[in-house]
Amino acid sequence: MDLKKKLIKLLEFRRELGEDYLIMPSWNEPEKVPVDKKATSREKVEFKSGVTGKADMKIEENENANNQAKSALEKHYQEIKDCQLCPLHETRHKFVYGIGNPQADLMFIGEAPGKDEDLRGVPFVGAAGGLFDKILKVVELSRDEIYIANILKCRPPKNRDPLPSEVSKCIPYLNRQIEIIKPRIICALGRVAAQNLLDTNLPLGRLRGEIHFFNRIPLVVTYHPAALLRNSNFKKPAWEDFKWIKQLCDNPGQITPYQPEPPKKLSLGL
Ligand code: SF4
Repeated sequence: MDLKKKLIKLLEFRRELGEDYLIMPSWNEPEKVPVDKKATSREKVEFKSGVTGKADMKIEENENANNQAKSALEKHYQEIKDCQLCPLHETRHKFVYGIGNPQADLMFIGEAPGKDEDLRGVPFVGAAGGLFDKILKVVELSRDEIYIANILKCRPPKNRDPLPSEVSKCIPYLNRQIEIIKPRIICALGRVAAQNLLDTNLPLGRLRGEIHFFNRIPLVVTYHPAALLRNSNFKKPAWEDFKWIKQLCDNPGQITPYQPEPPKKLSLGL
């Protein structure tokens, strides 16, 4: 696809998300400091004259830390991939561990694998995963920068809500993933993930826009991409949430709540 067609598709998608106008960057933007591509977002390395040696050391440290986190996740996966702690192991096709950057600053957590995830063993694939990727792209994030996991690693039959007994058995696995990845911000996707992580019965509308905490890590809440597919009225508020989440990631020292916009029509069960 040529650049013009790509740009048109991107603008159409942004309009679908409810964005009525586009702010163009100023022509007088300050000159950007070049950043080495190998440096992770956790520790960007500025290259200025006379500090190249230090920068090389930082890159090496980052690579070592990244390899350690990757190995720790792999070891953890091997330890739990045949888990039979709850009855969901009997109906699963594939165990769905998680995917992404082992040192991601931003970690997304959903409730449980759906049909496509269960068949492929990868979280957030299928139509909802495709929409999630598109939203990430317009806020200039990619799957390489984030980590995605679910509270449950096996699919509940017919996508029913996870049972408390299943969550209590499975959540230690997620805790271990968080311990290894050490995200700066967690984003719970959907009511079920948010309520289980925050141990609350509050509806999703009351949880959006606030900074909560999970194991002392700031946690924010937005819609699950599958909910956006079911009800397009959620797209605009979700888009606003994602822009706020991106701002939080870009300015981790200034974590503040925002006033989220409610969807046009409230739908029960989300
Ligand atoms: S859902 Fe979690 S606890 Fe249950 S079998 Fe799967 S991995 Fe084990």
